[in-house]
Amino acid sequence: MQEQHTAIAIDGPAAAGKSTVAKIVADKLNYIYVDTGAMYRALTLKALNDKVDPSDDDAVLDLLMNTNIELTNDSTGQRVILDGKDVTEEIRYQPVSANVSYVAKLSTVRQEMLERQRELAKDRGVVMDGRDIGTHVLPNAQVKIFLVASVDERAKRRHDENIAKGIPSDLEQLKAEIEKRDEIDSNRETAPLVRADDAIEVDTTSLSIDEVVRSILQEVEKYKDKQN
Ligand code: C5P
Repeated sequence: MQEQHTAIAIDGPAAAGKSTVAKIVADKLNYIYVDTGAMYRALTLKALNDKVDPSDDDAVLDLLMNTNIELTNDSTGQRVILDGKDVTEEIRYQPVSANVSYVAKLSTVRQEMLERQRELAKDRGVVMDGRDIGTHVLPNAQVKIFLVASVDERAKRRHDENIAKGIPSDLEQLKAEIEKRDEIDSNRETAPLVRADDAIEVDTTSLSIDEVVRSILQEVEKYKDKQN
């Protein structure tokens, strides 16, 4: 019988801590980690650099079809390679954050991204984070988590993270931007940000990273116990 690979889908609003915990969970389980937001961010960066209107479907899809996005891992974590160039840091900068939700609204772009993301998850254990992983990209994921936290807490965490990384950051601007992104992501027609019916919601507002990781690993254990 073919071995069934476990997929863990982690969705939730902006800056809820998805990628931090997803990376740790993937390391602990020896699964690959796929940050789907980084893919939308890389495409947005390219659109901005090439002066393509981020909300022009045809132009952005055309760009995507000529774009190579690779997610690689090294000792510093996941690196994002756009057409051969490392853009890991650049895709976190403000102009990309302010425009990415317009790119991510485009349904033809989402369809192509979904295919690329499924391909990355094929044949191996995977932890994938994003907005539509449990609902669309990996609807058969064995463990689905929906992470939430108050917007104040999310803005504060992202602000502290930026400062630590030396990225320019303004707390109030960040909060407004996070709210705006959530609004566009939640109200778009294609694959909006919504909790899958079978996802477990974890409110991380007053939890440590360790506690969130532990609760996800417990869900994985529960799933595995049921299999045995
Ligand atoms: O996860 P991150 O905050 O880096 O994602 C950036 C943006 O990419 C989100 O605000 C959303 O617009 C888009 N996104 C998406 N679907 C995903 C992952 C990200 O629409 N699966």
